[in-house]
Amino acid sequence: MIDTHAHMNLAEYEDDRGETLERARAAGVRGIVNIGIDEATSRECLDLAGKGAGDLYATVGLHPNSAAGAGDLNWIEALTDHPRVVGVGETGLDFYRDRATPVEQERAFDRQIEIARRKELTLIVHVREAEERVLSMLEAVEGVLGVWHCFSGTLDHARRALDLGLFLGIGGPVTFKRSDRRELLAQIPRDRVVLETDCPFLAPHPHRGRRNEPAYLRLIRESVAESWGVSEEEVDRLTDSAATALFRRDLASSAESSGG
Ligand SMILES: [Zn+2]
Ligand SMILES: [Zn+2]
Repeated sequence: MIDTHAHMNLAEYEDDRGETLERARAAGVRGIVNIGIDEATSRECLDLAGKGAGDLYATVGLHPNSAAGAGDLNWIEALTDHPRVVGVGETGLDFYRDRATPVEQERAFDRQIEIARRKELTLIVHVREAEERVLSMLEAVEGVLGVWHCFSGTLDHARRALDLGLFLGIGGPVTFKRSDRRELLAQIPRDRVVLETDCPFLAPHPHRGRRNEPAYLRLIRESVAESWGVSEEEVDRLTDSAATALFRRDLASSAESSGG
């Protein structure tokens, strides 16, 4: 399993980050992508990837909730040269919160789309109450390789995203008792789905409301297997190969070759 969206750099793991990563490995998580949300956290993700075992990667970017007064975002471009950087973001639009205006958010999103395309990196897209606008911005450019993380849209949104070549990130909500995500998932091509925890947020059932961690990816995999009517091994095979296509590299390979 690859956890394609985690925030293991955050202070929630200050006291037990090493043990948490060990639990992830023991649970079968072979690669973790830590996602930057601003300049400071993007640098933290890079530090972690540099120090950790071969299975930690980073993305660099600015979250839409932090887009107020963003400036030129040249720092993102500069940080993408690091060899452990596999993506730009998380970026996107979040109209649920108003910490940054829509104009500020769109400007930051636009700039990150441009950097991701030019540097041939994967775009990590966060969407909350802004599905139409995100889709129309992405439909206006050609050829963006990216993931709509923690996909919460409708089947129609999913189809439009898939038409654009996007992958869909499936996380903790798919395990919730009343979730409609399992039904939706059953109708989505199996080669376009990747797993994610978004930890420390969005812990799956039965840990809902508490701190999430990459080891809980097993619970998400279980719900995906149920929804598709396949074995958990088959979910591993499908989602690992989707993650390799999404990031244009096998994120589990370096962990394997280092014997970890
Ligand atoms: Zn997000
Ligand atoms: Zn996130």
